[in-house]
Amino acid sequence: MQLEVYEEQLLEGAKLLAQAKTVTDGKNAQAVKLVSDSLRLGGLRLNRLKSWLGGSIQSVQYLESGRADESGARRYAYQEEHGVSAEYELYPVKGQPAWSEEEKSRIEVFVLMLYQANERQRLTEDVDYYRYHDPQTRHTNMTYFSQRCEQYIKDGTIGNYTAMAVNLSGFTNLNLKIGSSNCDTVLVRYMDWLKMGLAADEVVSRISGDQFALLIHKEHEEQMLDKLRASEIRYGKNEPDRVCISAEAGIYQLTEGVDSYHHIIQAVCSALNVAKSSLQLQFSYYDPMTADASERKKFYEAEFEKALVNEDIHVYFQPKVSLKDYDLIGAEALSRWIVNGEIVPPDSFIPILEETTRICELDFYVLEHVCRSIQSWLRHGVQPVKVSVNFSRRHLSNDNLVQDIVQVIDKYKVPHRYIEVELTETTIDADFAALKKIVYGLRDYGIESSVDDFGMGYSSLSLIRDVPFKVLKIDKSFLGDKNMESDERQRSMMKHVISMANDLGMECIAEGVESMEHVQLLKENKCYMAQGFLFNRPIPQEQFEDILMQTQKEPADMATV
Ligand code: C2E
Ligand code: CA
Ligand code: CA
Repeated sequence: MQLEVYEEQLLEGAKLLAQAKTVTDGKNAQAVKLVSDSLRLGGLRLNRLKSWLGGSIQSVQYLESGRADESGARRYAYQEEHGVSAEYELYPVKGQPAWSEEEKSRIEVFVLMLYQANERQRLTEDVDYYRYHDPQTRHTNMTYFSQRCEQYIKDGTIGNYTAMAVNLSGFTNLNLKIGSSNCDTVLVRYMDWLKMGLAADEVVSRISGDQFALLIHKEHEEQMLDKLRASEIRYGKNEPDRVCISAEAGIYQLTEGVDSYHHIIQAVCSALNVAKSSLQLQFSYYDPMTADASERKKFYEAEFEKALVNEDIHVYFQPKVSLKDYDLIGAEALSRWIVNGEIVPPDSFIPILEETTRICELDFYVLEHVCRSIQSWLRHGVQPVKVSVNFSRRHLSNDNLVQDIVQVIDKYKVPHRYIEVELTETTIDADFAALKKIVYGLRDYGIESSVDDFGMGYSSLSLIRDVPFKVLKIDKSFLGDKNMESDERQRSMMKHVISMANDLGMECIAEGVESMEHVQLLKENKCYMAQGFLFNRPIPQEQFEDILMQTQKEPADMATV
């Protein structure tokens, strides 16, 4: 039996882990024993292998240390899971002194199969390895870092760690000084040094060039900072082949509430930027309290256009009710931004959008949405209610605002009486003139305007005297707390405001109505329209449509569609 052929094939083929050699059983029969260190046969079933060889070969034994007694399938599964070695013993048919040519070639094929299976296994391992490792330093990479973060977030252990983004100081100069090949050695040794003494769950990964991301136990933080302050790294055999490396770092002491890898990396990188641009600071700590605002701002600015296109900004409706019969009489459209499945209230993003004219885009987006909804209600024979849309003060510089609004409403063939434009007070004279022009303009088209948050500004009285608002929305602060003396004054003011509005032929609606006491107070003061949590919070469109459907009494205004 010429086993050398197989041995050669196996060993030379690809530094194969399997071996083949002759074994002699008690009866002196020849057998081929193949041993594989980390065999995976992929989809190939051992039974099929057996039956394929079985025609001429008496038995194929599949063994692994100490588990030879188990059934083939179970052993196979065990081996798949644990990657233990496997042995195949091939016996010639009883009474036959040697392997026939046919048998030899079958064994040859079998050996090749082993080879291929092992090769495939090795390749898979290589792919896995390079997915998580940086080929140059052979240390872990960014993907590995992100995966660890996500894992610890999932396990609920992220609060045990401190994350760092580290940048080596003066590494470009070092390249010039000692050459890039020495620098490569420095890099690897430096990373080895950083990792020294860390536990298996701690991470030192290379982000790029001379930047690393670290995830270390909180109790190792000081020790790590010491290393980063200055470390001596030897890169050659000679005594002078040493360099002193120091590094800047952005540090984030993680808490349990941290919920995304992106946030971690963004936070440490922004802290690192602070350290890099500072002459005094080598280390900078990320402070969620101060950093959040600027990061939130960047996020909303960057994501806004996309959110409009993807309709991630939803339009909610808050019902307005009559205090005489509690009927639904209208609604206010309010924006909600859905970020990662969470509802972000407008106070978090409106002020940011108001810093630029982005807010104007949002208001028109909401107006379009509202018009589309009303059009659809009318089409389905549902009687709409008037819906008010907020228009920011930013629009006041748009000389064409009235036409722009009318154009949208007309595009959806919505009767103008179903739209109300909410505008806030203004204290600036130029704005005042613009506001007046707009409200007059809208009125000419049969579109009503309301003055929002009335009572918050200062020019309130001349505003309602000179601008033909149809509706006055009394700010929720007027309702105040019943037991406070200052609120007594507020309520007295409210009484006069309502009576003045009534005298001027304006409608009055109170915002922020939260209790029956509020309702009582409003009724006493002859304000019969309200909006507030007592009735409904702002709700998604479908929910609002349910309420709208319940109020249907008369046939819809089909004639105008
Ligand atoms: P706003 O125009 O005064 O809207 C009314 C706000 O009061 C809403 O807050 C609403 O949820 C809240 N509210 C309603 N009932 C009650 C109540 O009973 N108690 C209390 N405490 N609050 C109540 P929201 O939706 O958070 O909106 C805040 C502000 O954001 C709005 O105030 C408005 O100025 C602005 N906003 C919302 N969406 C838009 C929009 O699409 N465009 C513009 N320009 N501004 C918007
Ligand atoms: Ca409003
Ligand atoms: Ca308001």
